[in-house]
Amino acid sequence: MSNDRPEPILFIDGQWRNAIGGGTRDIINPADGSVVAVVDEAGADDALAAVAAAKKAFDDPAWRATPIAERAAICDRIADFLERDRDEIARIETLDTGKTLKESHIDIDDVVSVFRFYANLGAVEADRLVDVGDPTIVSRVVREPIGVCVLIAPWNYPLLQIVWKIAPALVAGCTMVCKPSEVTPLSTIKLVRLIEEAGAPAGVVNLIQGSGAAVGDALTDNPDVDMISFTGGAPTGTRIAKVAAPHVSRVALELGGKNPHIVFADADWDAAVDAVVTGVFLHSGQVCSSGTRLIVEDSIADDFVAAVSGRAQRIRFGDGLDPASETGPLVSQSHRDKVESYVALGISEGATLVTGGERPTDEQFADGSYFPPTIFDHCNREMRLVQEETFGPILTVERFTTEAEAIALGNDTSFGLAAGVRTANTARAERVARALRHGTVWVNDFGVYTAAAEWGGFGKSGNGRELGPTGLAEYQETKHIWTNT
Ligand code: NAD
Repeated sequence: MSNDRPEPILFIDGQWRNAIGGGTRDIINPADGSVVAVVDEAGADDALAAVAAAKKAFDDPAWRATPIAERAAICDRIADFLERDRDEIARIETLDTGKTLKESHIDIDDVVSVFRFYANLGAVEADRLVDVGDPTIVSRVVREPIGVCVLIAPWNYPLLQIVWKIAPALVAGCTMVCKPSEVTPLSTIKLVRLIEEAGAPAGVVNLIQGSGAAVGDALTDNPDVDMISFTGGAPTGTRIAKVAAPHVSRVALELGGKNPHIVFADADWDAAVDAVVTGVFLHSGQVCSSGTRLIVEDSIADDFVAAVSGRAQRIRFGDGLDPASETGPLVSQSHRDKVESYVALGISEGATLVTGGERPTDEQFADGSYFPPTIFDHCNREMRLVQEETFGPILTVERFTTEAEAIALGNDTSFGLAAGVRTANTARAERVARALRHGTVWVNDFGVYTAAAEWGGFGKSGNGRELGPTGLAEYQETKHIWTNT
């Protein structure tokens, strides 16, 4: 840790501040282990001050009473500024997470579209009139902001995940405290500077840095917090739900996944090979909706696995700043240790290692946390490797012979975030898509989404929805106004 006092990167009540406690954290570039920034580590007092600022701004002056068109206009301006500064932001995100510049630019396209979507949705929001069968009664359902929100994001998509929360919360009229992952805080700092520039009043958007241990309870075990929107791992999410319960704070959880990618024998071969490889090895598998379980029809399984393996071996991994890299390193050395432990587990459980499994030895990868695409064949439901989220570049292979078996395998998970189905038979595609208990099902595609359609999980993948109209409703209370004329 450095002893220098870093630049102030907590944003509380419209002021950039240093943390009260004075602790700092080194932010590491996972491509080469270098320190890219030293940031303040906040403590409970900082977090409490941020919640207090958000509470004050909700009522005084009343952000919640600002016309929705004005709030939407701020979102549009933020989108403009994100486009203006996209090269700087993409570089920050790549240095912080290790993902390639191309991936960082895709994330920026995404967050721009999310701000614009909610700006447009806010502009057309209207009360709902209810016909109660009596002409003397006017019955209206109006939507109002839920209040003070705590928005907690993970490290794999730092900018994207926090924007999926900030944009609808702003349009709804909520005030908020944002807490990015302590591993990857840099793009959120830049984003909050843009939000300030776009004219959000003091206290509406506050920013806290730090680990869950340092600031988590102050943000979540807090009677002044009306809503917590959390994206991250299931153990953290369930803990937050418990500590928030006595305050009856609303808790929306977006958790992990163990996502099946089902390939029938009649699927377009080349497209299926490409989609399976990209679906699991994009961002080195550090994607909640990563297609980590290949479920393939037995009649083509051997050839298909060989083709996927061949394609996976040709993936060029390397520094995300190098345009030749197709995927970057894992986010940290400790995360690579965790991924490696799953490789050892897979071997001990009797799965067949087809490719990968060992960290690269080339000199150029020596200081980074690289791990190659890894495939295990002949897996089964009893294996922890098949049931637990590894959050790394590991694909497991299971085989099926009937459609019913494919569906049963696809649903054989406690998670339920996303699934893929590949077949040329449209009737079968529809049957399987409807039968799968997952929040998103891609048919002959994988990993794509739009700001206009809801995202979220069944089962242990979560209980909330982001994006789409429901993503806005998550930040709103409904009020029924019954008027006897
Ligand atoms: P994590 O649960 O370790 O951390 C997530 C966030 O919670 C971080 O900001 C962390 O500092 C914070 N946190 C930790 N303890 C806390 C506490 N006690 N109180 C409050 N906050 C606390 O998750 P991670 O390792 O950063 O992210 C990876 C996980 O995120 C994976 O499981 C992945 O599947 C999931 N994820 C889900 C989605 C989705 O849309 N469902 C999207 C991206 C990532």
